Amino acid sequence: MTVRKPWKLLIYLVELLIVVGPPTRLARADLSIEEEKKIGRQFMKAALSQLRLVQDPEVVGYLNKVGQDVVKHLEFHHFPYQFYVVDSSALNAFAAPAGYVFMNRGLIEIMDDEGELAAILAHEIAHVQSRHIAQRMARARVLNLAALGGMLAGIFMGGEAGAAAIAGSQAGATSAMLNYSRQDEEEADRKGLRYLEAANYHGEDFVEIMRKMGQDSWKAGGHMPTYLTTHPGVSERVVYLSTTVGTRAPSTKVRTEDSEGFILMQVKLYGAYGNPKEAEPKFREWFEKPETRAMAYYGTGLMRRRQRLMDEAVTAFKNAIALRPDLAPILVELGETYFQMGEFDKAQQVLTSALTLAPDQAAALYALGRCQLEQGQAAEASKQLEKAIRINNRLPKINYYLGLAYGKNNQLVDAHYHFGIYYKREGSLRNSQFHFEEALRLTNDPKEKEILNRELAQIKGALRAAKQKQ
Ligand SMILES: [Zn+2]
Repeated sequence: MTVRKPWKLLIYLVELLIVVGPPTRLARADLSIEEEKKIGRQFMKAALSQLRLVQDPEVVGYLNKVGQDVVKHLEFHHFPYQFYVVDSSALNAFAAPAGYVFMNRGLIEIMDDEGELAAILAHEIAHVQSRHIAQRMARARVLNLAALGGMLAGIFMGGEAGAAAIAGSQAGATSAMLNYSRQDEEEADRKGLRYLEAANYHGEDFVEIMRKMGQDSWKAGGHMPTYLTTHPGVSERVVYLSTTVGTRAPSTKVRTEDSEGFILMQVKLYGAYGNPKEAEPKFREWFEKPETRAMAYYGTGLMRRRQRLMDEAVTAFKNAIALRPDLAPILVELGETYFQMGEFDKAQQVLTSALTLAPDQAAALYALGRCQLEQGQAAEASKQLEKAIRINNRLPKINYYLGLAYGKNNQLVDAHYHFGIYYKREGSLRNSQFHFEEALRLTNDPKEKEILNRELAQIKGALRAAKQKQ
């Protein structure tokens, strides 16, 4: 994203405020938890159609581990928190209604450790816990709830996608008053810092990441952080945060951060999603130090595979494994690369060793299952894929491959069921309905019938709603 887009959105919002003026009468009734959840779901619908999310199970898994660890220490729990990485280089993070927290890839790339990541998550969690969005939305009650979700998505996402979402919501006029106030930000900082320290992270990490975001170099370098347009006054906040942190007695609690988990996530983001121009210098920096040299090779392997330079990718992964044979994720990526090259025997061998090191790796089970499917071992494949989906049901197309495996195994009820789920998630409702109906026709199990009838009722409801809209 360029420097212009976030500003365009901001100017657009300011103009709307000038034209329409602030509302004279505010409805003060608070939004209920249930209403906020409903808006959260609407928000997710708008966000998922417009944001490119990082699906990688390791990245998503690590981010959620850090996020849930902060959540664990909260005094009350209204919402089930979920954390997502957006594949965008803009420096931004935001919390949607009802506990959906988003972190841009670009922001993670400028961080140096897990504590800085936890700090931003804690700040966003604090917005949700303080129900800032709910308060702002309560003031905009004139609008219907569904429109609010789409509108909020526009504000937080920023850029052109955001402007489009706002324009599409026909509710742009009210959107300006939905932005957080400085007071909200201060409260989120204060509470966020407390959450961070409750999870035994260092408060200094909060100051550090704020300072990095406020650096003038971002403004000058054409990388205006979207975060600054939704989070004003970063430099002031650095001052009061560092004062708060500085006046406290040094914490006696010590947390052992998962620094390897952090760097593995960064390597993934740089190698598999990042801009090569930004990734290559980072890899060179890692290469200089013996302790991060394996990461440099690992990232290079991911990058080369993305560029379809498969032999170079294999060489890089092998170099990484020679230095760090204990790191299962690198073996998984080598296995995945062999799989993509059609070298199924080699792939199986490498993936099996990865699973010996760490038996619960969804990515390894997923790749091994697909490998076995290609080699006609459908029974084995369905076992591995079932294990994978139990650990992580958000693996891309996992239900599709399970459907294939069961189909080849002649377990047709299971096959149709998984195809039904796959098409439902793809938004292809007619196909989904067909497969659920086939499964229902073939099964005699009352429990399965109940599940299938529930799915079918949902699909039919969605189809009816779509028809009414036309
Ligand atoms: Zn904030």
